[in-house]
Amino acid sequence: MADRWLELGDGVYARRYAELDLTVGLVVGREKCLVVDTRGDTVQGTELAAAVRGITPLPWTIAITHAHFDHSFGTGAFGRCEVWAHPGCREDLVIDGENARTTRAQWYRDRGEPGIADAIAATELVLPAHLVDDERELSLGGRTVVLAHHGPAHSGHDLTVRVPDAGVLFAGDLVEHGPGGTFTTDSFGTDTVLDGWPPALAAIAALDYPIVVPGHGEPVGTGFVVRQQRLLADLVALVESGASDDEIVARSALPPEVTRAALAR
Ligand SMILES: [Zn+2]
Repeated sequence: MADRWLELGDGVYARRYAELDLTVGLVVGREKCLVVDTRGDTVQGTELAAAVRGITPLPWTIAITHAHFDHSFGTGAFGRCEVWAHPGCREDLVIDGENARTTRAQWYRDRGEPGIADAIAATELVLPAHLVDDERELSLGGRTVVLAHHGPAHSGHDLTVRVPDAGVLFAGDLVEHGPGGTFTTDSFGTDTVLDGWPPALAAIAALDYPIVVPGHGEPVGTGFVVRQQRLLADLVALVESGASDDEIVARSALPPEVTRAALAR
């Protein structure tokens, strides 16, 4: 898959990447644009910044959906600008950022990709200075976007970005449309709050946006969000029933290895 823009509405774009099947976003207003997530290192962030410049010359503001490296480590490539995130995102970068950088650089080295490993190792982390606890509107000139936190779920601090006038919602990794069409073993991290995830997805589904952009994979609709919400709600119910891990794996609708990854959290 070649890296490419998808136009989702008037001045609303997703950019798709072969690397990690990542999806980031761009919303263009009359006075400025908003970049949703910045990729995984300064080299990747520089590519994204140049791609944004291919679409608009307007000054940019950044929203980070969560602190995981593939969504937040490219921020330094955008220079001085407003960077918005949940306070937990900033805290995570302060507490775990250096460790995540080292761990991910080694992960790429082990995968035989020293170029990306070196780029991550050389990346300077940027802390978001503009924080949103709950919900916050941002004007881009002629259009308003809404940043919202729906409780701890995929991470402790997921932030969504919605564009009401275009019916597009950027969900970050709250919604995952992986190669198998759903969650993968990578969907569940050390900071995942499994029983918080179904209510967060229910909140997104209730907004009933026609286009929902996942953090990985192709854009989906609200029906997909509802199905993911049910999958995770069923899994949480199995866990709360006191069933053994083997029973849960046998009864879960998710692939066995994905269920085991979720149970490890
Ligand atoms: Zn993530």
